[in-house]
Amino acid sequence: VPTDEQGLVMWSFWYHLSDVRDAVAPYADPSPIFPVDIAWSPQSVLDFQGVENAAFVLSQRTFVLFPDALDNVPIAANAGVVRHEFGHAWFELLTTGVSGEELPWLEEEVQDALALNALNEGFADMVATLTLDDPRFIDPSLPMPSRDVSDKSWVATSDLYPNEDAGLVDAIGGYDKYALGTVYASFVWDVREATDPDTAMRLAVEGLVAFGETEDWGNPDGFVLAFLAAASGQTRAAACASAAVRFPELDISEACS
Ligand SMILES: [Zn+2]
Repeated sequence: VPTDEQGLVMWSFWYHLSDVRDAVAPYADPSPIFPVDIAWSPQSVLDFQGVENAAFVLSQRTFVLFPDALDNVPIAANAGVVRHEFGHAWFELLTTGVSGEELPWLEEEVQDALALNALNEGFADMVATLTLDDPRFIDPSLPMPSRDVSDKSWVATSDLYPNEDAGLVDAIGGYDKYALGTVYASFVWDVREATDPDTAMRLAVEGLVAFGETEDWGNPDGFVLAFLAAASGQTRAAACASAAVRFPELDISEACS
């Protein structure tokens, strides 16, 4: 690694990556994700808008980093962004039980794969917000109020879900997976506010593993139901109260009775 600015960013990325690896270990062993590859500034743009960007390539255990144009915390050196990207790798492991293999949801209809992508983004934001206990982790690099998980106005209205006739155009960017993803992350943040980051993270992992076992990839709201089922007592009451507001069209009567 060269000792210039780009080298420094890469060291920072590596430091944050090992940090989050340690942070999530108590919930579920992340070691199958490693070793990972890191691609510096290839010709592709994915996760965070504009020139500033970072991404994780599912099924290839590869992180993608881009150089920065803005004068603030470089995205690849932003602890929350690194944790978000790591969250995608962990999502793959927790839902399928393996890392770096063929993804089962790629065989599904486009609509189902897009819905699954929304939950993937939401879970990545859960990992970032809960392990840092910060609902606005992107802000030090670039302000993104649309991803503030402490915002009470995010609600999973039907227009946030991919259409039945979703096709290639939606798959390459027409569908906003972050809008629905932010609702999932905000639901779990509500539980964090009622309890603590550890409780919310533990339930998110339990809920995601249970959701993965159903292999019902096109129905990401199944994660919410699995999360509610894993909760108990006052935590469940708080989660049910949040779900009733955040997911008005989801039938939670069985999970919350
Ligand atoms: Zn992402």
